[in-house]
Amino acid sequence: MFCIRLTLRRALAATLSLAASFPLLAGAAPPVATSGTVAEPAAGPPSAAAATHGIDVSAIDRSVAPGDDFFRYANGAWLKRTEIPPDRSSWGTFGVLAELTDSRTDELIRAASASAETVSEARKVADYYDSFMDEATIERLGVAPLAAGLKQIDAISDRASLARALGRTLRADVDVLNSTSLHTENLFGLWVAQDLDDPTRYSPFLLQGGLVMPDRDYYLSPTQKMGDIRERYRAHIAAVLRLAGFHSAEARATRIYELEKRIAAGHWSRAESEEVQKGDNHWAAADFSRLAPGLEWREFFAGAGLGEVQGFVVWQPSAVTVISALTASVPLDTWKDFLRFHYVEAYSPFLAKAFVAEHFAFHQQTLSGTPQQRERWKRAVAATNDALQDAVGRLYVARYFPPDEKARAEALVHNLIVAMGMRIDRLTWMTPATREKAKAKLATLKVGVGYPDHWRDYSGLDVVRGDAFGNAERARLFDYRSNLAKLGKPVDRGEWAMPAQLVDAVNLPAMNAINFPAAILQPPYFDPERDPVMDYGSIGAVIGHEISHSFDDQGALFDASGTLRNWWTKEDFAHFKAAGDRLVAQYNAYHPFPDVSVNGKQTLSENIADVAGLSVAYDAWRLMLQGHAAPAGEGYSAEQLFFLAFAQSWQEKAREPALRRQLVTDGHAPPEYRADTVRNLDAWYDAFDIEPGQALYLAPADRVRVW
Ligand SMILES: [Zn+2]
Repeated sequence: MFCIRLTLRRALAATLSLAASFPLLAGAAPPVATSGTVAEPAAGPPSAAAATHGIDVSAIDRSVAPGDDFFRYANGAWLKRTEIPPDRSSWGTFGVLAELTDSRTDELIRAASASAETVSEARKVADYYDSFMDEATIERLGVAPLAAGLKQIDAISDRASLARALGRTLRADVDVLNSTSLHTENLFGLWVAQDLDDPTRYSPFLLQGGLVMPDRDYYLSPTQKMGDIRERYRAHIAAVLRLAGFHSAEARATRIYELEKRIAAGHWSRAESEEVQKGDNHWAAADFSRLAPGLEWREFFAGAGLGEVQGFVVWQPSAVTVISALTASVPLDTWKDFLRFHYVEAYSPFLAKAFVAEHFAFHQQTLSGTPQQRERWKRAVAATNDALQDAVGRLYVARYFPPDEKARAEALVHNLIVAMGMRIDRLTWMTPATREKAKAKLATLKVGVGYPDHWRDYSGLDVVRGDAFGNAERARLFDYRSNLAKLGKPVDRGEWAMPAQLVDAVNLPAMNAINFPAAILQPPYFDPERDPVMDYGSIGAVIGHEISHSFDDQGALFDASGTLRNWWTKEDFAHFKAAGDRLVAQYNAYHPFPDVSVNGKQTLSENIADVAGLSVAYDAWRLMLQGHAAPAGEGYSAEQLFFLAFAQSWQEKAREPALRRQLVTDGHAPPEYRADTVRNLDAWYDAFDIEPGQALYLAPADRVRVW
């Protein structure tokens, strides 16, 4: 919800086991911004080809009037000539840049493999990667790596040992507020974060889980499309069980599926889970057996390593109650099959080819429409990033994010913050009380540029050459324990919610902090070799977007300290909400397909952030000029370049299943409509001589100004 792009903590795992949920992070070709060639899947890592500078003139379609369809005016020629690579569910500016970053990361890891010392962090990175690449060993091992984990499940003999086994599956794999990753295949998910009522300490947040498919809708929606997917899923469960050597796979699959369906029926919807005030429920450890009877909670927490913890935040209480009751009422053997299947499913990407292929067929083909599996090296980079994100990040920024680029980015962020402050000062409708609190919040905003101040220490993680499966298991457990270790310690506001090598940006509302990873601070978003106007139009709008999240409908819920306390006066909030309602209507009117529209309510926070971010970026650019004339370029005025750079930062096309899925599960509107945000800014009308009657034209009174 609070990032510029995707909403997941484990974005980098997307290509491995979670690709279906996250169709937008994927990539497969050299950067082709102006080459005019269609992106082909590379045979090996694509070269770090020369980036383009300025806007991509060859992408523009002059047969489209800017006032009718600004996205297609800025990107139409690119859309016509580009085919989505077969191993991608979507393709565009973000994907190209992610691909470039991955290929660079791949080169860095290979170099580390050749040169790193025997005992070093770089050696761990290299060994993790090399073990994943060693398909011959993985193939030879077959199902052997599963044996120890399955034996533990076989040993479950009663409800107490079931509870303990379920507790052992808990991982720190969800995130409610930052990257809003709400989905886990484990029965529950844990997020360790700043408490929403007491910002001086960390709390463990417990979230609903237990579903392999991305959302409760996939189990419950009556549509034919979802019905078809359900049949494919049941077949997938059976196929995985057969591969792992279980008899009666069909019957077991049916029972597992029926259990997940009952869990889904108790789940909260995505929209409901995003309501922060509904989620902030404090339960003492002793409350669980009364409020959610069924599961032997003491055993569960002991299995999870949480036996000493006294208090939790239970995000979806009624779902936890339903799930807990099922652990008592559903036969033990069904739960054991559930655990077996979920275990094999979670680690299939680290097993032999047959498991990998089955996993791909369901998660990427069926759920996202991606025709072709990504090459092994790309999956190896994603896996290594996921396991050792900061160790890889250190290698990455040392090579690709020089101090002068960090300084230049910090200056840009500073200008955006100044411009935001001036907008707050200028708001005529805001009462002094709210204005003062907004300024206080802006003043305490903690900005992270490029990479975190402190990197995570991986000395406690064992990486064993030749053990891809064990490495993955240990890395997930290490990550979990690192999160548990935060409990009882002071809150670290310098903590990051994203890897430095991820093309994205994020606002951490409870921490009142923002992170801009190094990987998004590069062309075409941020480019030292062109006029800054285009940086303001692209990365400037991204930065403005993240800053404004601190002040949007959800940011309004957290004060400067990060406490969940609405700091707006009633009148101010009502005024703000009215502007939001008009934005809801604006986006509800967009129809990507005749039968589906954008959900204006589900995407409201992000749309507010887009409008505010672009407005602030425009102001910041004018401020930076200090009255000097702005240079034109490529036959366009400086103002036109600003808006074209913005619209081209949303250059993208997606496969139909992926786009339909985004419309259901993502808090962001599809890129095309994000580009059309321009219609709310007066400056855009002047820049392109937009006239009444054109499709995107809004009368001045209908243009939404949120800040
Ligand atoms: Zn956002």
